[in-house]
Amino acid sequence: MDIPRIFNITESAHRIHNPITPEKLATLGAALRLEPGTRVLDLGSGSGEMLCTWARDYGITGTGIDLSQLFTEQAKLRAVELGVADRVRFIHGDAAGYVSDEKAGVAACVGATWIGGGVAGTMELLAKSLRDGGIILIGEPFWRQMPPSEDVARGCGAHAISDFVMLGELLASFGRLGYDVVEMVLADQDGWDRYEAAKWLTMRRWLEANPGDEFAKEVRAQLTTEPERYAAYTREYLGWGVFALMRR
Ligand code: SAH
Repeated sequence: MDIPRIFNITESAHRIHNPITPEKLATLGAALRLEPGTRVLDLGSGSGEMLCTWARDYGITGTGIDLSQLFTEQAKLRAVELGVADRVRFIHGDAAGYVSDEKAGVAACVGATWIGGGVAGTMELLAKSLRDGGIILIGEPFWRQMPPSEDVARGCGAHAISDFVMLGELLASFGRLGYDVVEMVLADQDGWDRYEAAKWLTMRRWLEANPGDEFAKEVRAQLTTEPERYAAYTREYLGWGVFALMRR
């Protein structure tokens, strides 16, 4: 049980698997005014940077579930490194349908809303683990500029223009689901560069270390084309943010 191997290769050196930077992750934690001891659930926790740094900086306790064995191992190591292994735990597994025994003050899915079949389904899933008055965090892309064609949307890695909406419409959709948007931290193009460009050196180093691997051709092809694709499409058209939501 794992995610497609290509992600475990290209994102093996990432601490954050999204365009949010360490600084913005800290800004988000501060913006939420987290009380020490707040329980945070994180579906698709990746390498655990959000839970580990928030445990260190804001005294939260947390549980993360992630389908990547590699990322989950890295999360556990990070918890030890930051001295918070007694406050956060990381489970390797499928988070689809995961409901925690103890209710959380914050229930998050940051950049992995396919886990619940989309934004609405993921909010419904997270709500099952949330205490009354708790905060749901959703990390999700939106269009910074409307793509002029379906080809441009596909260039951004989307299946279609309809995969995403503009920021205002995304915020309105949370309202229609019965939630107030109470905070948000948006990525910028520098953050996108940290997420996307960091893959390139990782791919280059991986290719040098694994020339005979069956994935080498695919990784080589990606490294050759990704910088231009990213600059022309994702960097220009795709926005991304984390939205804090409370039920009305
Ligand atoms: N929230 C993290 C990771 C985002 S990347 C961060 O911001 O750094 C998306 C993550 O979802 C990856 O770590 C991937 O392994 C994980 N994932 C994908 N499908 C999943 C599933 N069904 N259950 C749990 N995690 C999943």
